[in-house]
Amino acid sequence: MADSHETLICPACGSDMQKVFIPSKGLNIDICTQGCGGIFFDNREFKIFANDAADFDEIVQATENNEFEPVDESRERYCPACGAKMVKNYANREQNIQVDECYTCGGKFLDHCELTRIRGL
Ligand SMILES: [Zn+2]
Ligand SMILES: [Zn+2]
Repeated sequence: MADSHETLICPACGSDMQKVFIPSKGLNIDICTQGCGGIFFDNREFKIFANDAADFDEIVQATENNEFEPVDESRERYCPACGAKMVKNYANREQNIQVDECYTCGGKFLDHCELTRIRGL
């Protein structure tokens, strides 16, 4: 899937998501920097980041200094890329972290702090 240059709408809080460029990967990641701090990966991006935890610096920087709005976790979330309803799924082998996953396009949405938890920090 090619990187989209459209602004995505955060599925958790409805804010506009900001594209954060990751130079080492040549990828733009969508992050909810103005709202809840959530991060959306498309299928290809998530595999890259799940398999190589070394280059999260830009994402961490974009999310660590802000105070984010709390989100209603019980609210249904819809994929910002394709509009399908997202499903909670375990994101790691230990099965203690759930992320929202889109079965239609493979997109994944991580709440603020879930990424660092997946990394085991
Ligand atoms: Zn948000
Ligand atoms: Zn989708």
